[in-house]
Amino acid sequence: MRRDVRALVEALRGIDRRGYKAYKEIQGRWSFQDFELSIEHVQGDPFADASRVRVSLSPEVAALPAELLQSAARRTGVASHLARSFGRRAKQRSKSRGTGKSGEIRIESPAQEVLLQNALLVGDDGSLEVRFRVGLPAAGRKVLAGEAIELLTEDVPAVAAGTLRATEYAPGELLEHATVNEDAEWLRDQLSGRGLVAFVADGSSLPRRSGIDDRPLEDGSAVPFRSPGTLRVTLDRPNAGPIDGMGVPGGVTLVVGGGYHGKSTLLRAIERGVYNHRPGDGREYVVTDRTAVKVRAEDGRAVAGVDISAFIDGLPQGQDTRAFSTSNASGSTSQAAAIVEAREAGAKVLLVDEDTAATNFMIRDRRMQALVPKEGEPITPFVDRVRQLHSDAGMSSILVLGGSGDYLDVADTVIAMRDYRPEDVTDRARTVAAELPTGRIAEIPDALPGLGARRPDPDSVDPSKGRRAVSIRVHAADRLTFGHQEVELAGVSQLVSRAQARAIGQALAYAKRGGIVDGDRSVPEILDALERVCRDRGLDAIDDLGAGELAEFRRFELAAALNRLRTLRVDTESSAPSRRG
Ligand code: ADP
Ligand code: MG
Repeated sequence: MRRDVRALVEALRGIDRRGYKAYKEIQGRWSFQDFELSIEHVQGDPFADASRVRVSLSPEVAALPAELLQSAARRTGVASHLARSFGRRAKQRSKSRGTGKSGEIRIESPAQEVLLQNALLVGDDGSLEVRFRVGLPAAGRKVLAGEAIELLTEDVPAVAAGTLRATEYAPGELLEHATVNEDAEWLRDQLSGRGLVAFVADGSSLPRRSGIDDRPLEDGSAVPFRSPGTLRVTLDRPNAGPIDGMGVPGGVTLVVGGGYHGKSTLLRAIERGVYNHRPGDGREYVVTDRTAVKVRAEDGRAVAGVDISAFIDGLPQGQDTRAFSTSNASGSTSQAAAIVEAREAGAKVLLVDEDTAATNFMIRDRRMQALVPKEGEPITPFVDRVRQLHSDAGMSSILVLGGSGDYLDVADTVIAMRDYRPEDVTDRARTVAAELPTGRIAEIPDALPGLGARRPDPDSVDPSKGRRAVSIRVHAADRLTFGHQEVELAGVSQLVSRAQARAIGQALAYAKRGGIVDGDRSVPEILDALERVCRDRGLDAIDDLGAGELAEFRRFELAAALNRLRTLRVDTESSAPSRRG
């Protein structure tokens, strides 16, 4: 018997009113008129996570024009747009068809960022595969064949057709998603050659709808970005041509200005500029060095064996800060750890906002220096290390600091935000610094410590729970359940979606089961190995469930999750002979 739609209908009729487990009989592939439906895994009951299915289209049926496929960046832009529109249609078409999740159609659809995802794959030959979930209908726990037939033979094809024949409906739209994504990639590639760490294009619209809504502010009040003449640069785009904007040079950059003048909004756009954005986002042409990491204070987090002695030394109870571990970091120790961890993972740009920084970590002014002698103060403030981080470790910084003039002495570039417009006030800042000396004593005590290797203990990275070797759940982007642990990721602001958090959880589980975390490899070696796996074999390589619910992630956010595991133990004996040779 050919497994076509009619056969599927018959199979469903045959299990009507039987127990829910009977749905297992429809697992496997079914040929529809112009696509193949593969029912990969049937949910255990109507309340469990919906069943996993795939739809695949041949290049002939998908009929994507060659211009959409000619580069990886174009394909990613196309895939992201198709997944978003599939998600929208799936939502429209979903309805309750019985108990629990009956009738639901759901795909992991992207938000504002354009990330490689494994929910929708565009092959370089133009084939398409969509992975999503459907809630197979039940009354109580009994199969509802009639509803299932409508769901699988009407709803699913309708959602698929609307999206996958997108070229018929809106060819220009797809091309725009392809070319804008490619242009953004090119802009980012030009940064280092121009000595820049970030670029904010003129005309960009940076403010968001709200603190919990990342879509652009669209009430007409957004002031478009306009670069100050002295920082203006022109970069090239292969598709849309040259574009002007503000180039943020390497070194130490300060963003100053009065409260509510758009400083944090600018920094947030820059921090998200490590990713591309969909057309219409307002930040499509805001691009940042791929290794830029936002660091912040995050009191309460765990830290495992991090050398924070550059910033904190001589703690009251004599704790060793060259291999600092705690289950409850303070604001300053957490921020110090975040900086060292970013450096360990390879970050070349640090982003810091006063709103989320520990004051005693950032500054200690003249008066406080007089009141509390250096010997009684374990903290060497960031202001005394930030130049050294650039000269000795090649790390630039962009710092939003409206309240501390002490940084004028150490800044290469000073940008003032006024009414959401940037001004280059570097020269004025120099004059002010010369005319009004702070009297502050610089506290640079010694060279920047090197990076000792931290080698995670495999027993301390455990994704298992009960009988399940891997149990990973993500309820929101900022919370990953890894085995028995809740990993708090709210402080990792460049982690942008649940799909990313889930992928990071899966990657860590893969690292454990694949022996990548072997007690011997250091943290950067683990990150290298996982990066290689994902680059060479795609996200499917780490996808334990095969549900197509993962998105690409950076090594920095992967490291952030690893570093926040409360069970993590590391071997920091830098003098131990290396077994790896
Ligand atoms: P700051 O960090 O300087 O105190 P924020 O960046 O938090 O200021 O911005 C203050 C408010 O102004 C926010 O509500 C933000 O959405 C809004 N805002 C920021 N930039 C713009 C802009 N370019 N146009 C309109 N509103 C903006
Ligand atoms: Mg602010």
